[in-house]
Parts: sequence; C-alpha cells; structure tokens
Amino acid sequence: MIVVLLGPPGCGKGTQGERLAAALGVPKISTGDVIRAAMKAGTPLGLKAKSYYDRGDLVPDDLIMEIIKGALAAPEQGKGAILDGVVRTVPQAEGLAGVLASLGRKLDLVLLFEIADEELVGRLSARTVCEACQSPFMGRQPGQLHADCAKEPKGHLVRRKDDEPEAIRNRLKVYQAQTAPVVAWYKANNGPLTAIDALGTVDGVTARVRAAAGLS
Ligand SMILES: [Zn+2]
Repeated sequence: MIVVLLGPPGCGKGTQGERLAAALGVPKISTGDVIRAAMKAGTPLGLKAKSYYDRGDLVPDDLIMEIIKGALAAPEQGKGAILDGVVRTVPQAEGLAGVLASLGRKLDLVLLFEIADEELVGRLSARTVCEACQSPFMGRQPGQLHADCAKEPKGHLVRRKDDEPEAIRNRLKVYQAQTAPVVAWYKANNGPLTAIDALGTVDGVTARVRAAAGLS
C-alpha cells in the first residue's frame, strides 16, 4: 500500500505515519531521509543532490523524484511505503504520479490531516526548548530553569523563533497556499483522497487513520 501524507506542521502526521507504517509493515519515507541516505551511499543521484546542498541550493523536484523512484523500487518497499513530506506542491504530486506509473504501481491513499489553524498555533507555541541542552518541552513557560539539565550551567527554557505565534501563522499560510492546489489536483485526477480530522487524542486520530486505510 502506497500512502501519501498531507498536513500542516503540528498536525501529528509524523506520529500517525509511523503508526500506520508499523501496522502495515511498510517503511515510512520522507524526502529528507531519502536524499540523505542517497548522499551517504554516494550513489550518482546522491552525489548530484549533494552538489546542490553544498552550494546551498534547493534540490530540484525532478532529481528528488528520481531518488524517490530509486527508493520505491528497492525490495524493502515491495509491500508499499508511507510517504511523508514527499508531496507538498502540484509539480511534486505530478512527479510522484509519473514515478509510480513508470514502476507499474499505484497510489492507494492520500491522507489529508485537517485541523484548525488556531489549534496548531496553540499546540506549537506551547513548545519550549532548553537553551543549553535543546531538550524539548510541552506546556512549560519560557524562562523556567531546566532543573534536570545535563549541561553546566543549567539552561533556561526558551521558545524558538519558529514557534512564536506570528511565525506559526506564517508557516500555516505557506502550507495552505501550497496545499490547496495539491488537494484540488488530486480531486481533479481522481486521487484517493481522504480527509482525517486531526483534532483529538493521538489514539483517536490513529483509529480514524486505520479506518481510512481499511484496517480494523
Ligand atoms: Zn537543559
């Protein structure tokens, strides 16, 4: 089963993707992981990707899709894969469709995790990290001392700039601007799109994901 995950930052799709991957017995693949693995292995495509990285440039979509194709053709992906962060834009959706067609495989499911922006702002801005050891915390106020800190002197909790409410709203705007056309594209192309209500407990969302994937 080949599944694409779509969802805004903070929606929990990473955790849900791992659970679904375990339940289906397939790997979870993210673009970043696949590119890093190809670079580390020193494959021709990996070396090409590295030349972009080393210049500080974005790796182009067609090269990413070639690397994804190689990953999907590997024997361990024979039963399928959960693709997280692989499709963010319409050209990537088109690219993946071409890759799957060339491998004689098909996309079984596109899970669209939906959740209100303000819920995400609340979740993400509740995150702090220790300035010294970088341990993450949820629901603790910035300025508190990290009493169990492994560093000396112990650090204080700070909110990363990315997790400030204004920065989160901007990330969500970028996500919506990119994703709405992807959703429209899948609808126009009979994509196997299923919306998942991502509000609620992790187990509650998992139950909805499992139902969408045809698991009990
Ligand atoms: Zn610390």
